[in-house]
Amino acid sequence: MFGARELLVLLVVIAVVWAVSRWSDRLRNAGRERRPPLDRHSVDLEECPVCHTYVLHDAPRCRRRQCPRRG
Ligand SMILES: [Zn+2]
Repeated sequence: MFGARELLVLLVVIAVVWAVSRWSDRLRNAGRERRPPLDRHSVDLEECPVCHTYVLHDAPRCRRRQCPRRG
């Protein structure tokens, strides 16, 4: 039969195994989510030839006077 100490050790072992499996699950999920979901959100970006920033296709113009964007 199990004594109280053996039972405690068993509980600790189970808790450690559970924690490690949760931790590795989270690591696997994090690695999956870190990859950019390219086909889920494809956004049209355009480079402004004056300010050289990439803005959304329908974004308003920047504050530079020569900016060709209208908005
Ligand atoms: Zn601009």
